[in-house]
Amino acid sequence: MTNLTRVEAGARSALIDVTGYRVELDLDQGPETFESSSTVRFGCAELGASTFLDVKPQRLQRVTLNGVDLDLNGFDGERIGLTDLALANEVVVTATMSYSNDGQGLHRAVDPADERHYVYGHSFLDAAPRVFACFDQPDLKAPYDVSVTAPPEWIVLGNGAATRTGEGAWVLATTKPLATYFFTVCAGPYVSVTTVHDGIPLGVHARASLREPLERQAEQMLTITRASFDYYHSLFGIRYPFGEYHQVFVPEFNAGAMENPGCVTLRDQYVFRGAMTHDEVLTRSSTISHEMAHMWFGDLVTMTWWDDLWLNESFAEYMSHRTLCEATEFTQAWVDSSMARKPWGYAAERMPSTHPVAGSPAPDAQSALQNFDGISYAKGAATLRQLIAHIGDAEFISGVSEYLRSHAYGNAALVDFLGAMERASGKDLQGWAAAWLRTAGLDAISVATTTGGGSITSATVRRTPPVAHPADRPHSIDVAGFSRGTEVFRVLTTVDRDETALPELEGKPVAGMLIPNATDLTWANVKLDAATVAAAPAELSSVPQAQARAVVWTALIDGVALAEIDPRHLLAVLAASWASESNQSIINRVGLLMTQRIIPAFLPFGEQEGAHAVLASAATGMLAQSEPGSSRALMAARYVATSTADEDLMGRWAAGKQLPQGLDGDFDFRWVALGNLARRGLIGAAVLDAALEQDRTMAGNLKWLQAKASAPDAPSKVWAWEQLTGEHGRSNYELNALAVGFWHASDQDVLRPYVARYFADVPALSHQVGEDALARVAALAYPASLVEAATAEQSAAALGRPDLTASVRRAIVDADSQLHEALASRVAFG
Ligand SMILES: [Zn+2]
Repeated sequence: MTNLTRVEAGARSALIDVTGYRVELDLDQGPETFESSSTVRFGCAELGASTFLDVKPQRLQRVTLNGVDLDLNGFDGERIGLTDLALANEVVVTATMSYSNDGQGLHRAVDPADERHYVYGHSFLDAAPRVFACFDQPDLKAPYDVSVTAPPEWIVLGNGAATRTGEGAWVLATTKPLATYFFTVCAGPYVSVTTVHDGIPLGVHARASLREPLERQAEQMLTITRASFDYYHSLFGIRYPFGEYHQVFVPEFNAGAMENPGCVTLRDQYVFRGAMTHDEVLTRSSTISHEMAHMWFGDLVTMTWWDDLWLNESFAEYMSHRTLCEATEFTQAWVDSSMARKPWGYAAERMPSTHPVAGSPAPDAQSALQNFDGISYAKGAATLRQLIAHIGDAEFISGVSEYLRSHAYGNAALVDFLGAMERASGKDLQGWAAAWLRTAGLDAISVATTTGGGSITSATVRRTPPVAHPADRPHSIDVAGFSRGTEVFRVLTTVDRDETALPELEGKPVAGMLIPNATDLTWANVKLDAATVAAAPAELSSVPQAQARAVVWTALIDGVALAEIDPRHLLAVLAASWASESNQSIINRVGLLMTQRIIPAFLPFGEQEGAHAVLASAATGMLAQSEPGSSRALMAARYVATSTADEDLMGRWAAGKQLPQGLDGDFDFRWVALGNLARRGLIGAAVLDAALEQDRTMAGNLKWLQAKASAPDAPSKVWAWEQLTGEHGRSNYELNALAVGFWHASDQDVLRPYVARYFADVPALSHQVGEDALARVAALAYPASLVEAATAEQSAAALGRPDLTASVRRAIVDADSQLHEALASRVAFG
């Protein structure tokens, strides 16, 4: 597959400027293909010059350039050569295009609940040519005129406001200049809730089978939307520029959401069909606010090339948390960031694939996709918080506003952003940017104290840069001490050398827990002192601030990953503090990290069942102590259902009987219990099939696949592996469900033959599945539960192969790095 290089993009944008697109899509041609007609008007700086247009059709029908038919023989399937250009040109391309089922291009899905079909467009990162012919690069922006023909019972949404002009005929309003990767059309029998806020028409939309939960939850979604609009309007001083604002919850979406101007697409698991927790609503709210931040940062001003994609994501990640804290009920959103986002980024920093926030080379479009990770989001956001601490908040906002105004509807690069920040603050930021943005890695931060007579006699903050990525990173941090539920001291300091004295702590009482970076302002590997680690089981739950507790949890989890802390000690902290934790982000994220990574990877196989029992017991206690029907009770019930070995209880819950309050009829919850029983081999396919019969939905189908794949017997594994890697036309989500379920077994001998199969069969999926989707499948299907030398050896051998696509290679590099963390921990602690 061709992959646009930076050099090609630079040459093309130097030569041409696109003045407008007219796109006509006919989506009424059956379930396999659609008709696409693109008229592209563009100027050319040099008479007689040549360039190329991107299109990836099933069948190219006709191309005319300035009224002359082009010879289509020799078309390579991806690029149309345009020669002998005039100063003003018009190219018209008609083609038959294929719908996808991997979340890229125009994705088409069938809802098993009612057999209705849904379509959505996802052009990011380079999939626009799978929908229409275009100059597909971020710095050739142009306005769009789009019309769509669709089955008469469908509605159509897109970047411009949609108007129905006749039966099945829709015209979308002309857009402002947009980058090609923002193009979307969503079409199908979607149901809608609409309103207007501050002159902006708003809509939320989902599949018809999700009508009831959409209508029940729309007000919460719209409340966050309104609050974010008000906040961004006042902060940036620039009105939302793209007309209507639609949020379409679409099926089988690869990422969380996509910031298409005027028509954001979001994964439709965000429309919670059953009971929902506070943590889930917070995450959805964060995504809503994140995509809205992109309307300014990313959409109004777009990066010139993909190597500055981080700037979009870092900014939106930062802004969404700020907005939630300052303008909504989710005032603890930064705690969620500490628990849900930063561990993702810290894990990325430990991998050999880590990279600087900015300036990672992106010689081509696909290589940029590999940097779309916890560094670009979580580290980038933390770096912006450090920038604000460094230059001041008013200066930061004034710089952002100037940046947005001076590049509106155009493109910009890091140098433009930094220039705006320097002008706003009057500070030279070159050294700061070199350390924080252009160097990978994170410092270790610890506090060393000497004590006497129950008091601190001296204290020093130690900053240890990583050997592989030395840099002089200044940190604005605080250091706090807690004893038996009381904050005994807190000092703010700037750490700009490897040893920074803290004279303010002299004479303070020795604290039970000494917590560096207690409000989590910086990006660092916090190393707790030995006394604090030892005190954590007894003291952690009494620390009064959730933010400080989150820092301790993250430090302990990172300590396990670095083979510095015994995973059994983390389990002891959980047994002592988790059930009484009040912050729901902490409860949920600690639970997820324990069940998905710490227990299966770091504890020997023989100890895992016991560890799950510890978690189940803590969750049972939490459930008993929580208000029935509350979000906290729901979370506790889910962890009981995930972890317990109580077959009778799971049998009742799986059958929908004697459920905790608020979970009657909640199929998602029943599937958790069914999944537990299936994994243990306690129910067979017949029970799962019967459950699917009662829950003929997209979600039910995925849970059924996952549970079937997780059955521990050899015939089930044969079936699951064949479903995962054979040619069944399975969607991206179905492949993910099979991959998540597969690597469970009570006898790991059943799984071992599939390690070699993974390295043979999963890379070959690149013939069926796009890179964006394959990146996820390859990561989820990796044999992470077989923590043994043979897995590492086969990974190493695979990485020597020349045939891996970039996504598969990256997935294996990262999974292999995590495998080695687990192996090192087992060497250190048994
Ligand atoms: Zn984003």
